Amino acid sequence: MQDELKEFMSSKLNEECGVFGVFNVENASEITYFGLHSLQHRGQEGCGMVVSDEQNLSIKKGEGLVAEIFNNQILSELKGCHAIGHVRYSTAGGGGIENVQPFLFRHHTGDFALAHNGNLVNSKDIKLTLEKNGSIFQSTSDSETLAHLISRNGKHSRIDAIKESLRMIEGGFAFLILTKDSLYACRDKHGLRPLSLARLNNGYVVASETCAFDVIGAKYIRDLLPGEVLKIARDGVISSNYSLFSKHHMCAMEYVYFSRPDSVMEHVNVHEFRKESGRMLARISPVEADIVVGVPDSSLSAALGYSLESGIPYEIGLIKNKYIGRTFIQPSQKLREKSVKMKLSVIESVVKDKRVILIDDSIVRGTTSRRIIAMLKEAGAKEVHVRVASPQITHPCFYGVDISTYEELISARLSLEEINREIGSDSLVFLDNEALYKCAKRTELCDACFTGKYPTNLYQPIEEANKDGKF
Ligand code: SF4
Repeated sequence: MQDELKEFMSSKLNEECGVFGVFNVENASEITYFGLHSLQHRGQEGCGMVVSDEQNLSIKKGEGLVAEIFNNQILSELKGCHAIGHVRYSTAGGGGIENVQPFLFRHHTGDFALAHNGNLVNSKDIKLTLEKNGSIFQSTSDSETLAHLISRNGKHSRIDAIKESLRMIEGGFAFLILTKDSLYACRDKHGLRPLSLARLNNGYVVASETCAFDVIGAKYIRDLLPGEVLKIARDGVISSNYSLFSKHHMCAMEYVYFSRPDSVMEHVNVHEFRKESGRMLARISPVEADIVVGVPDSSLSAALGYSLESGIPYEIGLIKNKYIGRTFIQPSQKLREKSVKMKLSVIESVVKDKRVILIDDSIVRGTTSRRIIAMLKEAGAKEVHVRVASPQITHPCFYGVDISTYEELISARLSLEEINREIGSDSLVFLDNEALYKCAKRTELCDACFTGKYPTNLYQPIEEANKDGKF
């Protein structure tokens, strides 16, 4: 997708892909279709699945939404009872069909397919070493890097080759690997990217988010532990670790913004987290106003929380146009200026002559906030007080989230006062870091984009990453 269109469609953060896998279920392709569909919010650029009938692995993937790539005919041709699938938003690696996952590798030790969510921080070094030793890459995806490592460790058993390869990589990731007769699920040792396990009849399901279990009637069992590798086969589920190091640094933005409100991330429901963040905001930053309005969709739970805590009525003042898809025609420069209006509309009768508390989940560049506030004021809002349900984003992300360069991050450039002026709000308060942990009821989280304290080595210095234009 062209960069301009990408910016037009989302001037906020972008999800970093979703993975879904099933083992020993009837009509695996159909189940995977519904699983991927429920993870569509994590990536809309491309999707795919690989299905095993225990003899062969068949693949279908393409650029577009799940409903655009798959139909009944295609699903019926993907025969088998085991499958992995992927929805993609291009963070590292760029777009293009060659980067759409899963990847299917033919190898003398046995064919296998691979899909991942997240980003490796040392992939550049590993790729260079592999290339010097004869590997040729077809894509720029981290999945291919892991596949080459697994192939190179081919003298070991499959599980040992996977674990040996995982020990060589660093970053935030959840990998699914499908062979003809086994499904492997791996989670990074820092616990940055989510991955959960569920039961479906006599089989198993793994997914980035638990909302994918609900839609197919699977029963949640547990989250994979950081550093855990599960092998799911006919003889059951075997758990082992690829690393003794293990931390629970779940990405805070999963709670704040990425995940669906009906998902449960490490025992905390996302909607409950957001509602609590709104309540906290109301306690730390009360303001006299007439209505509380959330920016749809991800800020609605926090807006409800703010309203409940403050006693100020919750109102629907903004409506989102949900049907701007990947193939939406690129607007001209003039129309792009109005892009927020295409995505959001104000209900004038709700906000006219009102003092509005506007709840947003996060502020990245500030452009969307400025336009929404302008729209509210054009519609007659007397005051707009912005309350943000996360701390200020001051640093880039290296773990698979599309957080821009320092230059693009408004909180990295400007003081709170300056941001308030820049976006045109009457007052502005962000949730603090301590409150974030309280809302998630946990003592460990990745909060690096708020604090700059990265849980892993970065390998590539930040200045160098900036020069690459990646951050
Ligand atoms: S840096 Fe921010 S977006 Fe990236 S993994 Fe950590 S909390 Fe998530």
